[in-house]
Amino acid sequence: MRLSTITNYAYGATVALTLASGAVMLMASSAEEKERAAVEQRAVFDQMTATLEEDTYRLTEQARAYVITGDPSHIIAYRREKAALRSVEQRILHLRDRGASISELAALRQGLHWADALTDEQEAAINAAEKGDRETARTIVFGDEYGRELDRVAAQIGKFQYMLDQRAENTVQQATEAARQWRIMSEIMLGATALLFLCVLYFILKQRILRPVVRLSDVVTRLAAQDYAAVPPDFPQVDEIGDMAQAIRIFRENGLERQRLEQERDADRITRDQLSRMTQRLQGCDSTSDLVEVVRRFAPEIAPGFAGRLYIHDTRRNMMVQACDWLSPRQSGGDFTPATCWALRRGQIHKPAGDLVDIPCEHLTGNAQVRTICIPLTAQGESIGLLYVEQPEDRTADQIGRTEKYLEMLAENIGLALANLRLRDALRQMAMADPLTGLANRRRFDAVFNEQVAHAESALTPLACLMVDIDHFKRFNDAHGHDAGDAVLRAVGGVLDEALREKDCAFRLGGEEFVLLMPGFAQDQAIDRAIQVQQKLQELRVEHRGEELGPITASFGLAVFPDHGRAETLVRTADAALLRAKNQGRNQIVIATVRDAASHSA
Ligand code: GH3
Ligand code: MG
Ligand code: MG
Repeated sequence: MRLSTITNYAYGATVALTLASGAVMLMASSAEEKERAAVEQRAVFDQMTATLEEDTYRLTEQARAYVITGDPSHIIAYRREKAALRSVEQRILHLRDRGASISELAALRQGLHWADALTDEQEAAINAAEKGDRETARTIVFGDEYGRELDRVAAQIGKFQYMLDQRAENTVQQATEAARQWRIMSEIMLGATALLFLCVLYFILKQRILRPVVRLSDVVTRLAAQDYAAVPPDFPQVDEIGDMAQAIRIFRENGLERQRLEQERDADRITRDQLSRMTQRLQGCDSTSDLVEVVRRFAPEIAPGFAGRLYIHDTRRNMMVQACDWLSPRQSGGDFTPATCWALRRGQIHKPAGDLVDIPCEHLTGNAQVRTICIPLTAQGESIGLLYVEQPEDRTADQIGRTEKYLEMLAENIGLALANLRLRDALRQMAMADPLTGLANRRRFDAVFNEQVAHAESALTPLACLMVDIDHFKRFNDAHGHDAGDAVLRAVGGVLDEALREKDCAFRLGGEEFVLLMPGFAQDQAIDRAIQVQQKLQELRVEHRGEELGPITASFGLAVFPDHGRAETLVRTADAALLRAKNQGRNQIVIATVRDAASHSA
């Protein structure tokens, strides 16, 4: 109920009570009026009966005076008094109209009757006196009988007045009592009006205004301090307080929504920061293992709660190889062929457990019922890896959708980094390899040589270095053309590449100069191997455009650590030995001497 309705009711009740109390006051005043009327009536009766009594005595006196004196003036006075008495009687006959009761009137009539009887006797006495019979006249008006009758009239009038007094007193008493009661009632009503007014005021102020306002104000204070745990009380009534509570509830809901959006925005910003940091780290990765470590650490931060695995495509075996996992995924363990993943087949994100029916990938081997997402890592249209994740159960579709966007960005960044790494590896490979023979080049040789030297010196293991230079190579070019020379170079490179079981030991230093590094080879073993190579080269037959090129020979310079001095001077020592081999007529192996070592260190 609205406050205005309550106040209207209260005003209505107050007005009704006030009117009622006014009516009661009127009743009280009417009772007082009755009291006054009773008093007035009594005064009128008193006066009339007093006149009656007096007139009766006066008539007696005039009659007695005439009987004694015989003066006719008394007769005249007597007649006048009698006429007056008659008029009084006439008036008294109308007393009924003034409220006299039947018993009172009966008493009064009795008195009048006896007064009339007295008048008759007075007339008889006057008649007797006029006739001269004074004695009889005197006997009548002065006799005991007359006296008694006179007293009887007076007593009767007294009785009437007494009855009158009794009634008037009763009436006054009743009227007074009624007036008192009405007044008390009126006062009670006025009191009740005031009390009602105060009660309504108290109820409105305390119950409907003060208490709710205090509670609402408490909630508003807490909400202003962004304490959204403060829930506005539920005031279902349709009034201003109810409207206020509703407004505060809306205010709180808006605040909560704003807080949620802010939290989302903050979380969004944090995730984007993480993504950006991860991208920076990925760009700094030198190897796939570095990249895998970055993904393993950052992925659970960017998509919290999403367990997952990273697969990298092994092109040699055409297999998706698991590189790492996080948060213990339950499905898709181990390696698999790309054809078993729909995401890789289509080159698009694949969510078989979404809202729409879809085909699960074959590589999902586990029994666990989890919602999976496969995101291909692509570079220039080629799938080079796969980001596999499992959705946590406790997320809303909205949250999943947002995280999915981050996962797609994550996959894109990983794909790019992986492609960069591959490109860099390819470039490095190209920079380190000789395209003609497929052997490692001088740059690669320098790096490997430094490593081998460091290892040999620290571990004190032998290291042999065999320098090879094709004899009169220029002649192949001159006689058969540059391509023929290239064919010879390729053939010699092939022999050197197969000379050692270990990879990465044969190098083309430039032109027709090669070197064979033999870690762990002592001088004797190295000489044996040099002889094997020399023989293989001699046995080599190279054809070019159907034409067999002449025999190939080469000169060799062999230097061995620790036999021929310090490891880092091995190349130059071997070079010196090679020079001697050329000078001594070519097609021979010359083993370095200490002099060779000393010749360039001097
Ligand atoms: P020597 O027995 O004294 O070593 O004589 P040589 O002819 O082998 O040596 P020289 O240094 O006089 O000539 C090397 C020639 O190799 C010169 C150059 O034209 C040729 N050459 C260098 N690089 C290549 C190449 O990549 N392909 C071909 N076909 N020829 C090359
Ligand atoms: Mg040369
Ligand atoms: Mg040569």
